[in-house]
Amino acid sequence: MVHSLHISDSHLKESPKLGSREPRIIKRPDHNVSRNDISSAALKVLYRLHKSGYQAFLVGGGVRDAMLELHPKDFDIATNATPEEVRSLFSNCRLIGRRFRLAHVRFGREIIEVATFRAAANHENDDSAHDTEGRILRDNVYGTIDEDVWRRDFTCNALYYNIADFSIWDYAGGFEDVKRKRIVFIGDPAQRVREDPVRMLRAARFAGKLGFTIDHSVIKAMRGHTALLANVPAARLFDEFLKLFQSGFAERTFDLLREHNLFGELFPATEEELSNDAGFLKFTHAALHNSDKRVADGKSVTPMFLLGVFLWLPIKKLAEVRRSEEKMSESQALSIAAYEIVSQQQRRISIPKRFTVPMREMLALQPRFAMVRGKRAMNLLEHRRFRAAYDFMLLQSEVGQADETLAKFWTDVQTQTENKRAVSFQMQSGQGQGQGQDSHQKRRPRRRRRKPSQAT
Ligand code: ATP
Ligand code: MG
Repeated sequence: MVHSLHISDSHLKESPKLGSREPRIIKRPDHNVSRNDISSAALKVLYRLHKSGYQAFLVGGGVRDAMLELHPKDFDIATNATPEEVRSLFSNCRLIGRRFRLAHVRFGREIIEVATFRAAANHENDDSAHDTEGRILRDNVYGTIDEDVWRRDFTCNALYYNIADFSIWDYAGGFEDVKRKRIVFIGDPAQRVREDPVRMLRAARFAGKLGFTIDHSVIKAMRGHTALLANVPAARLFDEFLKLFQSGFAERTFDLLREHNLFGELFPATEEELSNDAGFLKFTHAALHNSDKRVADGKSVTPMFLLGVFLWLPIKKLAEVRRSEEKMSESQALSIAAYEIVSQQQRRISIPKRFTVPMREMLALQPRFAMVRGKRAMNLLEHRRFRAAYDFMLLQSEVGQADETLAKFWTDVQTQTENKRAVSFQMQSGQGQGQGQDSHQKRRPRRRRRKPSQAT
Protein backbone atom coordinates (compact mmCIF):
# COMPACT_ATOMS: atom_id res chain seq x y z
CA MET A 1 0.00 0.00 0.00
CA VAL A 2 1.30 3.41 -0.85
CA HIS A 3 1.01 5.74 2.09
CA SER A 4 1.09 9.17 0.62
CA LEU A 5 1.88 12.45 2.34
CA HIS A 6 -0.22 14.43 -0.07
CA ILE A 7 -0.36 18.19 -0.28
CA SER A 8 -3.89 19.33 0.33
CA ASP A 9 -5.43 21.95 -1.91
CA SER A 10 -6.05 24.22 1.05
CA HIS A 11 -2.33 24.12 1.82
CA LEU A 12 -1.56 25.13 -1.74
CA LYS A 13 -3.91 28.11 -1.52
CA GLU A 14 -2.42 29.26 1.77
CA SER A 15 1.06 29.01 0.39
CA PRO A 16 1.25 30.75 -2.95
CA LYS A 17 4.99 30.06 -3.24
CA LEU A 18 4.21 26.39 -3.73
CA GLY A 19 3.02 27.25 -7.22
CA SER A 20 0.31 25.46 -9.10
CA ARG A 21 -0.44 21.81 -9.65
CA GLU A 22 -0.69 22.44 -13.37
CA PRO A 23 2.69 22.63 -14.99
CA ARG A 24 3.66 25.13 -17.58
CA ILE A 25 4.54 22.92 -20.54
CA ILE A 26 7.27 24.27 -22.78
CA LYS A 27 6.99 22.51 -26.13
CA ARG A 28 10.06 21.33 -28.01
CA PRO A 29 10.26 24.29 -30.44
CA ASP A 30 10.26 26.70 -27.49
CA HIS A 31 13.29 25.36 -25.65
CA ASN A 32 16.83 24.31 -26.51
CA VAL A 33 17.17 20.96 -24.72
CA SER A 34 18.08 18.48 -27.39
CA ARG A 35 18.51 14.73 -27.29
CA ASN A 36 22.10 15.37 -28.36
CA ASP A 37 22.70 16.77 -24.87
CA ILE A 38 21.58 13.54 -23.25
CA SER A 39 23.82 10.49 -23.03
CA SER A 40 22.75 7.47 -25.05
CA ALA A 41 22.51 5.46 -21.83
CA ALA A 42 20.06 7.94 -20.32
CA LEU A 43 18.06 7.98 -23.54
CA LYS A 44 17.84 4.18 -23.55
CA VAL A 45 16.43 4.19 -20.03
CA LEU A 46 13.97 6.96 -20.81
CA TYR A 47 12.73 5.25 -23.99
CA ARG A 48 12.35 1.82 -22.44
CA LEU A 49 10.35 3.20 -19.50
CA HIS A 50 8.17 5.16 -21.90
CA LYS A 51 7.58 2.22 -24.23
CA SER A 52 6.62 0.10 -21.25
CA GLY A 53 3.85 2.53 -20.45
CA TYR A 54 5.45 4.55 -17.66
CA GLN A 55 6.04 8.26 -17.41
CA ALA A 56 9.74 9.00 -17.89
CA PHE A 57 11.40 12.37 -17.34
CA LEU A 58 14.93 13.62 -17.22
CA VAL A 59 15.22 15.89 -14.16
CA GLY A 60 17.60 17.96 -12.12
CA GLY A 61 21.03 19.02 -13.27
CA GLY A 62 20.71 17.26 -16.62
CA VAL A 63 17.91 19.49 -17.86
CA ARG A 64 19.31 22.63 -16.24
CA ASP A 65 22.79 22.17 -17.65
CA ALA A 66 21.49 21.26 -21.10
CA MET A 67 19.47 24.48 -21.16
CA LEU A 68 22.66 26.35 -20.34
CA GLU A 69 24.63 24.44 -22.96
CA LEU A 70 26.94 23.13 -20.28
CA HIS A 71 27.15 19.50 -21.42
CA PRO A 72 25.58 17.76 -18.43
CA LYS A 73 27.70 15.01 -16.94
CA ASP A 74 25.17 13.04 -14.98
CA PHE A 75 21.59 12.21 -15.66
CA ASP A 76 18.83 11.66 -13.15
CA ILE A 77 15.56 10.16 -14.26
CA ALA A 78 12.20 10.36 -12.53
CA THR A 79 9.34 7.99 -13.25
CA ASN A 80 6.06 6.64 -11.91
CA ALA A 81 7.40 3.09 -12.16
CA THR A 82 8.32 1.62 -8.77
CA PRO A 83 11.94 0.55 -8.25
CA GLU A 84 10.91 -3.10 -8.61
CA GLU A 85 9.19 -2.31 -11.89
CA VAL A 86 12.30 -0.51 -13.10
CA ARG A 87 14.43 -3.48 -12.16
CA SER A 88 12.23 -5.87 -14.08
CA LEU A 89 12.83 -3.79 -17.23
CA PHE A 90 16.64 -3.73 -17.06
CA SER A 91 18.96 -6.64 -16.50
CA ASN A 92 21.80 -4.21 -15.70
CA CYS A 93 19.88 -2.72 -12.76
CA ARG A 94 20.52 -2.68 -9.03
CA LEU A 95 18.30 -1.28 -6.31
CA ILE A 96 20.08 0.79 -3.71
CA GLY A 97 19.11 2.61 -0.52
CA ARG A 98 17.15 1.24 2.37
CA ARG A 99 14.98 4.18 3.36
CA PHE A 100 14.18 5.25 -0.15
CA ARG A 101 14.93 2.80 -2.90
CA LEU A 102 16.55 4.04 -6.07
CA ALA A 103 17.32 2.08 -9.19
CA HIS A 104 20.82 2.27 -10.67
CA VAL A 105 21.02 1.18 -14.28
CA ARG A 106 24.57 0.57 -15.36
CA PHE A 107 26.02 0.98 -18.85
CA GLY A 108 29.73 0.36 -18.67
CA ARG A 109 31.06 3.12 -16.43
CA GLU A 110 27.96 5.23 -16.63
CA ILE A 111 25.27 4.83 -14.00
CA ILE A 112 21.82 6.24 -14.62
CA GLU A 113 19.89 6.91 -11.45
CA VAL A 114 16.17 6.28 -11.70
CA ALA A 115 13.98 7.57 -8.88
CA THR A 116 10.29 6.90 -8.42
CA PHE A 117 8.26 10.10 -7.91
CA ARG A 118 8.24 10.94 -4.23
CA ALA A 119 5.96 13.09 -2.13
CA ALA A 120 7.63 15.83 -0.09
CA ALA A 121 7.37 16.04 3.66
CA ASN A 122 6.12 19.50 3.08
CA HIS A 123 3.90 20.18 6.05
CA GLU A 124 5.98 21.97 8.57
CA ASN A 125 3.34 21.22 11.18
CA ASP A 126 3.44 17.51 10.40
CA ASP A 127 5.59 16.70 13.43
CA SER A 128 6.22 13.13 12.45
CA ALA A 129 8.10 14.13 9.33
CA HIS A 130 10.50 16.66 10.91
CA ASP A 131 12.79 16.78 13.92
CA THR A 132 12.71 19.59 16.45
CA GLU A 133 14.93 21.81 14.29
CA GLY A 134 12.77 21.21 11.25
CA ARG A 135 15.03 18.73 9.49
CA ILE A 136 13.32 16.24 7.27
CA LEU A 137 13.13 12.80 8.80
CA ARG A 138 10.84 11.25 6.27
CA ASP A 139 10.47 11.80 2.58
CA ASN A 140 10.22 8.19 1.66
CA VAL A 141 6.73 8.06 0.28
CA TYR A 142 5.96 7.43 -3.36
CA GLY A 143 3.94 10.10 -5.05
CA THR A 144 3.09 11.66 -8.39
CA ILE A 145 5.08 14.10 -10.49
CA ASP A 146 3.18 17.07 -9.10
CA GLU A 147 4.23 15.99 -5.60
CA ASP A 148 7.77 15.08 -6.58
CA VAL A 149 8.48 18.61 -7.68
CA TRP A 150 8.02 20.19 -4.24
CA ARG A 151 10.65 18.10 -2.51
CA ARG A 152 13.34 19.44 -4.83
CA ASP A 153 15.50 22.31 -3.66
CA PHE A 154 15.72 25.06 -6.28
CA THR A 155 13.43 25.98 -9.15
CA CYS A 156 16.28 25.50 -11.63
CA ASN A 157 16.62 21.90 -10.43
CA ALA A 158 12.95 21.07 -10.83
CA LEU A 159 12.50 21.02 -14.59
CA TYR A 160 11.20 17.76 -16.07
CA TYR A 161 12.05 16.85 -19.64
CA ASN A 162 9.39 14.50 -20.96
CA ILE A 163 10.69 11.81 -23.30
CA ALA A 164 7.15 11.26 -24.64
CA ASP A 165 7.13 14.51 -26.63
CA PHE A 166 10.42 16.27 -25.70
CA SER A 167 8.58 19.02 -23.83
CA ILE A 168 9.70 20.48 -20.49
CA TRP A 169 7.27 20.49 -17.57
CA ASP A 170 7.77 23.39 -15.20
CA TYR A 171 5.74 23.58 -11.99
CA ALA A 172 7.90 25.99 -10.05
CA GLY A 173 9.04 28.68 -12.47
CA GLY A 174 12.44 27.12 -13.06
CA PHE A 175 12.43 27.79 -16.78
CA GLU A 176 12.42 31.56 -16.26
CA ASP A 177 14.87 31.31 -13.36
CA VAL A 178 17.38 29.42 -15.49
CA LYS A 179 17.03 32.07 -18.17
CA ARG A 180 17.47 34.83 -15.60
CA LYS A 181 20.28 32.88 -13.94
CA ARG A 182 18.83 32.90 -10.47
CA ILE A 183 18.98 30.44 -7.59
CA VAL A 184 15.51 30.47 -6.05
CA PHE A 185 14.09 28.04 -3.49
CA ILE A 186 10.92 26.14 -4.19
CA GLY A 187 8.47 26.90 -1.37
CA ASP A 188 9.25 28.77 1.82
CA PRO A 189 13.01 29.50 1.88
CA ALA A 190 13.37 29.45 5.67
CA GLN A 191 11.59 26.12 5.88
CA ARG A 192 13.70 24.63 3.08
CA VAL A 193 16.90 25.64 4.88
CA ARG A 194 15.70 24.15 8.17
CA GLU A 195 14.61 20.92 6.49
CA ASP A 196 18.06 20.38 5.04
CA PRO A 197 20.83 22.87 5.85
CA VAL A 198 23.03 21.35 3.12
CA ARG A 199 20.84 23.26 0.68
CA MET A 200 22.74 26.41 1.72
CA LEU A 201 25.94 24.82 0.45
CA ARG A 202 24.15 23.70 -2.68
CA ALA A 203 23.02 27.28 -3.31
CA ALA A 204 26.65 28.43 -3.24
CA ARG A 205 27.77 25.47 -5.33
CA PHE A 206 25.26 26.04 -8.12
CA ALA A 207 25.87 29.80 -8.08
CA GLY A 208 29.60 29.12 -8.38
CA LYS A 209 29.27 26.52 -11.08
CA LEU A 210 26.58 28.17 -13.16
CA GLY A 211 27.48 31.80 -12.57
CA PHE A 212 23.97 32.36 -11.17
CA THR A 213 22.95 34.97 -8.63
CA ILE A 214 21.66 33.70 -5.32
CA ASP A 215 18.23 35.25 -4.97
CA HIS A 216 17.74 37.72 -2.15
CA SER A 217 15.07 35.47 -0.58
CA VAL A 218 17.61 32.63 -0.36
CA ILE A 219 20.26 34.89 1.16
CA LYS A 220 17.75 36.11 3.70
CA ALA A 221 16.84 32.55 4.65
CA MET A 222 20.50 31.58 5.05
CA ARG A 223 21.36 34.58 7.21
CA GLY A 224 21.62 33.54 10.82
CA HIS A 225 21.02 29.88 9.99
CA THR A 226 24.45 28.81 8.83
CA ALA A 227 25.15 27.21 12.22
CA LEU A 228 22.51 24.58 11.39
CA LEU A 229 25.23 22.91 9.33
CA ALA A 230 26.71 21.68 12.59
CA ASN A 231 23.83 19.18 12.76
CA VAL A 232 24.65 17.63 9.41
CA PRO A 233 26.51 14.30 9.60
CA ALA A 234 30.23 14.80 8.97
CA ALA A 235 30.28 12.04 6.34
CA ARG A 236 27.66 13.82 4.24
CA LEU A 237 29.66 17.04 4.50
CA PHE A 238 32.70 15.27 3.13
CA ASP A 239 30.70 14.26 0.04
CA GLU A 240 29.53 17.82 -0.28
CA PHE A 241 33.08 19.12 0.20
CA LEU A 242 34.16 17.06 -2.82
CA LYS A 243 31.36 18.48 -4.96
CA LEU A 244 32.11 22.02 -3.82
CA PHE A 245 35.84 21.91 -4.48
CA GLN A 246 36.48 19.31 -7.15
CA SER A 247 34.00 20.28 -9.85
CA GLY A 248 36.14 22.92 -11.48
CA PHE A 249 34.58 26.04 -9.96
CA ALA A 250 36.22 25.91 -6.58
CA GLU A 251 37.58 29.44 -6.51
CA ARG A 252 34.25 31.10 -7.18
CA THR A 253 32.44 28.74 -4.87
CA PHE A 254 34.94 29.44 -2.09
CA ASP A 255 34.32 33.19 -2.35
CA LEU A 256 30.56 32.64 -2.24
CA LEU A 257 30.83 30.32 0.74
CA ARG A 258 32.84 32.94 2.60
CA GLU A 259 30.55 35.76 1.56
CA HIS A 260 27.58 33.92 3.05
CA ASN A 261 29.39 32.79 6.22
CA LEU A 262 29.24 29.16 5.21
CA PHE A 263 32.92 28.42 4.83
CA GLY A 264 33.60 28.93 8.54
CA GLU A 265 30.98 26.30 9.34
CA LEU A 266 32.95 23.77 7.31
CA PHE A 267 36.49 24.87 8.23
CA PRO A 268 36.34 26.98 11.41
CA ALA A 269 40.09 27.06 12.08
CA THR A 270 40.83 27.99 8.47
CA GLU A 271 38.26 30.77 8.41
CA GLU A 272 39.79 32.33 11.50
CA GLU A 273 43.20 32.54 9.84
CA LEU A 274 41.82 33.67 6.48
CA SER A 275 40.20 36.71 7.98
CA ASN A 276 43.44 37.78 9.66
CA ASP A 277 46.10 36.88 7.16
CA ALA A 278 46.08 38.27 3.64
CA GLY A 279 49.03 36.08 2.62
CA PHE A 280 47.19 32.92 3.58
CA LEU A 281 44.10 34.09 1.70
CA LYS A 282 46.22 34.72 -1.37
CA PHE A 283 47.80 31.29 -1.10
CA THR A 284 44.38 29.63 -0.74
CA HIS A 285 43.07 31.47 -3.78
CA ALA A 286 46.11 30.44 -5.81
CA ALA A 287 45.58 26.80 -4.84
CA LEU A 288 41.89 26.89 -5.77
CA HIS A 289 42.67 28.63 -9.03
CA ASN A 290 45.25 26.03 -9.85
CA SER A 291 42.92 23.19 -8.98
CA ASP A 292 40.18 24.60 -11.24
CA LYS A 293 42.68 24.87 -14.03
CA ARG A 294 43.68 21.24 -13.57
CA VAL A 295 40.04 20.17 -13.81
CA ALA A 296 39.59 22.28 -16.95
CA ASP A 297 42.66 20.60 -18.46
CA GLY A 298 41.29 17.16 -17.66
CA LYS A 299 44.00 16.49 -15.05
CA SER A 300 43.37 14.68 -11.80
CA VAL A 301 42.88 16.51 -8.51
CA THR A 302 43.18 15.02 -5.06
CA PRO A 303 41.23 16.36 -2.10
CA MET A 304 44.26 15.91 0.14
CA PHE A 305 46.06 18.79 -1.53
CA LEU A 306 43.32 21.35 -0.93
CA LEU A 307 42.77 20.02 2.57
CA GLY A 308 46.47 20.57 3.19
CA VAL A 309 46.15 24.12 1.88
CA PHE A 310 43.09 24.90 4.03
CA LEU A 311 44.63 23.49 7.18
CA TRP A 312 48.17 24.74 6.56
CA LEU A 313 48.21 27.89 8.66
CA PRO A 314 46.34 26.43 11.64
CA ILE A 315 48.76 23.48 11.56
CA LYS A 316 51.84 25.66 11.14
CA LYS A 317 50.86 27.86 14.06
CA LEU A 318 50.12 24.93 16.33
CA ALA A 319 53.43 23.33 15.32
CA GLU A 320 55.26 26.43 16.55
CA VAL A 321 53.50 26.14 19.89
CA ARG A 322 54.32 22.45 20.22
CA ARG A 323 57.94 23.15 19.34
CA SER A 324 58.23 25.79 22.02
CA GLU A 325 56.94 23.27 24.55
CA GLU A 326 59.19 20.39 23.65
CA LYS A 327 62.38 19.79 21.71
CA MET A 328 61.59 18.37 18.31
CA SER A 329 62.29 19.00 14.65
CA GLU A 330 60.10 21.24 12.58
CA SER A 331 58.88 18.27 10.59
CA GLN A 332 57.95 16.35 13.70
CA ALA A 333 56.12 19.35 15.11
CA LEU A 334 54.15 19.77 11.87
CA SER A 335 53.21 16.13 11.89
CA ILE A 336 51.98 16.28 15.47
CA ALA A 337 50.11 19.52 14.89
CA ALA A 338 48.54 18.12 11.71
CA TYR A 339 47.25 15.19 13.72
CA GLU A 340 45.62 17.50 16.26
CA ILE A 341 44.13 19.93 13.76
CA VAL A 342 42.79 17.10 11.60
CA SER A 343 41.09 15.54 14.64
CA GLN A 344 39.34 18.86 15.32
CA GLN A 345 38.41 19.19 11.66
CA GLN A 346 36.90 15.70 11.62
CA ARG A 347 34.12 16.87 13.91
CA ARG A 348 32.83 18.94 11.00
CA ILE A 349 33.88 16.98 7.94
CA SER A 350 34.93 13.38 8.22
CA ILE A 351 37.95 13.02 6.02
CA PRO A 352 38.99 9.46 5.22
CA LYS A 353 42.43 8.32 6.39
CA ARG A 354 43.56 7.77 2.82
CA PHE A 355 43.57 11.55 2.48
CA THR A 356 44.66 12.69 5.94
CA VAL A 357 47.76 10.48 6.04
CA PRO A 358 49.31 11.75 2.77
CA MET A 359 48.27 15.28 3.70
CA ARG A 360 50.25 15.11 6.93
CA GLU A 361 53.24 13.74 5.06
CA MET A 362 53.04 16.48 2.47
CA LEU A 363 52.99 19.21 5.12
CA ALA A 364 55.66 17.65 7.30
CA LEU A 365 58.03 17.62 4.32
CA GLN A 366 57.89 21.40 3.89
CA PRO A 367 60.86 22.26 6.16
CA ARG A 368 63.01 19.83 4.22
CA PHE A 369 63.01 22.08 1.16
CA ALA A 370 65.28 24.40 3.10
CA MET A 371 67.96 21.72 3.19
CA VAL A 372 69.84 21.69 -0.05
CA ARG A 373 73.11 20.00 0.83
CA GLY A 374 74.02 16.39 1.25
CA LYS A 375 72.56 13.02 0.63
CA ARG A 376 69.62 13.43 2.97
CA ALA A 377 68.58 16.59 1.17
CA MET A 378 68.85 14.85 -2.18
CA ASN A 379 66.85 11.88 -0.93
CA LEU A 380 63.83 14.11 -0.67
CA LEU A 381 63.47 13.72 -4.42
CA GLU A 382 62.76 10.03 -3.90
CA HIS A 383 60.15 10.52 -1.22
CA ARG A 384 56.76 9.19 -2.25
CA ARG A 385 55.18 12.49 -1.24
CA PHE A 386 57.79 14.63 -2.99
CA ARG A 387 55.58 15.61 -5.94
CA ALA A 388 52.71 16.89 -3.82
CA ALA A 389 55.03 18.54 -1.31
CA TYR A 390 56.95 20.23 -4.13
CA ASP A 391 53.76 21.51 -5.78
CA PHE A 392 52.66 22.84 -2.41
CA MET A 393 55.97 24.65 -1.85
CA LEU A 394 56.02 25.99 -5.40
CA LEU A 395 52.56 27.45 -4.98
CA GLN A 396 53.66 29.11 -1.77
CA SER A 397 56.65 30.64 -3.50
CA GLU A 398 54.44 31.92 -6.31
CA VAL A 399 52.47 34.00 -3.83
CA GLY A 400 55.55 35.14 -1.95
CA GLN A 401 55.07 32.73 0.95
CA ALA A 402 58.19 30.66 0.30
CA ASP A 403 61.72 31.44 -0.88
CA GLU A 404 61.76 31.77 -4.66
CA THR A 405 65.42 30.80 -5.03
CA LEU A 406 64.76 27.63 -3.12
CA ALA A 407 61.78 26.87 -5.31
CA LYS A 408 63.94 27.34 -8.37
CA PHE A 409 66.62 25.07 -6.93
CA TRP A 410 64.09 22.24 -6.43
CA THR A 411 62.62 22.79 -9.86
CA ASP A 412 66.04 22.63 -11.51
CA VAL A 413 67.39 19.58 -9.71
CA GLN A 414 64.48 17.46 -10.89
CA THR A 415 65.65 17.54 -14.48
CA GLN A 416 69.38 17.35 -13.84
CA THR A 417 71.53 14.33 -14.64
CA GLU A 418 72.74 12.31 -11.69
CA ASN A 419 76.19 13.85 -11.83
CA LYS A 420 74.95 17.36 -12.09
CA ARG A 421 72.53 16.71 -9.30
CA ALA A 422 75.27 15.44 -7.01
CA VAL A 423 77.13 18.65 -7.68
CA SER A 424 74.05 20.72 -6.92
CA PHE A 425 73.50 19.07 -3.59
CA GLN A 426 77.08 19.04 -2.38
CA MET A 427 78.57 22.21 -3.73
CA GLN A 428 75.70 24.50 -3.34
CA SER A 429 77.56 26.84 -0.97
CA GLY A 430 78.72 29.13 -3.76
CA GLN A 431 75.19 30.36 -4.23
CA GLY A 432 75.03 31.58 -0.67
CA GLN A 433 71.44 30.64 -0.23
CA GLY A 434 69.29 27.86 1.04
CA GLN A 435 71.71 26.67 3.70
CA GLY A 436 70.38 23.60 5.40
CA GLN A 437 68.96 24.74 8.69
CA ASP A 438 69.01 21.25 10.06
CA SER A 439 71.85 21.14 12.54
CA HIS A 440 72.28 17.36 12.22
CA GLN A 441 73.18 17.73 8.62
CA LYS A 442 76.73 16.63 7.88
CA ARG A 443 78.73 18.09 5.03
CA ARG A 444 79.71 14.69 3.79
CA PRO A 445 76.84 12.31 3.12
CA ARG A 446 76.84 9.27 5.36
CA ARG A 447 76.77 5.91 3.68
CA ARG A 448 73.67 3.93 4.34
CA ARG A 449 74.05 0.25 5.01
CA ARG A 450 70.89 -1.08 3.46
CA LYS A 451 70.86 -0.29 -0.20
CA PRO A 452 69.74 -3.17 -2.35
CA SER A 453 69.70 -1.29 -5.63
CA GLN A 454 71.09 1.87 -7.10
CA ALA A 455 68.93 4.87 -6.43
CA THR A 456 67.71 6.42 -9.63
P1 ATP B 1 24.92 18.21 -10.30
O1 ATP B 1 24.67 16.79 -10.70
O2 ATP B 1 25.43 19.11 -11.34
O3 ATP B 1 25.67 18.32 -9.03
P2 ATP B 1 22.10 18.22 -9.70
O4 ATP B 1 21.13 19.35 -9.66
O5 ATP B 1 21.82 17.09 -10.62
O6 ATP B 1 23.50 18.88 -9.98
P3 ATP B 1 22.17 16.25 -7.64
O7 ATP B 1 22.82 16.33 -6.30
O8 ATP B 1 22.64 15.26 -8.65
O9 ATP B 1 22.21 17.71 -8.23
O10 ATP B 1 20.61 15.98 -7.37
C1 ATP B 1 19.67 15.74 -8.39
C2 ATP B 1 18.39 16.48 -8.10
O11 ATP B 1 17.81 16.01 -6.88
C3 ATP B 1 18.57 17.98 -7.90
O12 ATP B 1 18.54 18.68 -9.11
C4 ATP B 1 17.39 18.31 -7.04
O13 ATP B 1 16.21 18.42 -7.82
C5 ATP B 1 17.26 17.09 -6.14
N1 ATP B 1 18.01 17.24 -4.89
C6 ATP B 1 19.26 16.81 -4.64
N2 ATP B 1 19.65 17.11 -3.39
C7 ATP B 1 18.62 17.75 -2.82
C8 ATP B 1 18.39 18.32 -1.54
N3 ATP B 1 19.33 18.28 -0.57
N4 ATP B 1 17.19 18.89 -1.30
C9 ATP B 1 16.25 18.90 -2.26
N5 ATP B 1 16.41 18.41 -3.47
C10 ATP B 1 17.58 17.83 -3.78
MG1 MG C 1 22.85 15.28 -10.81
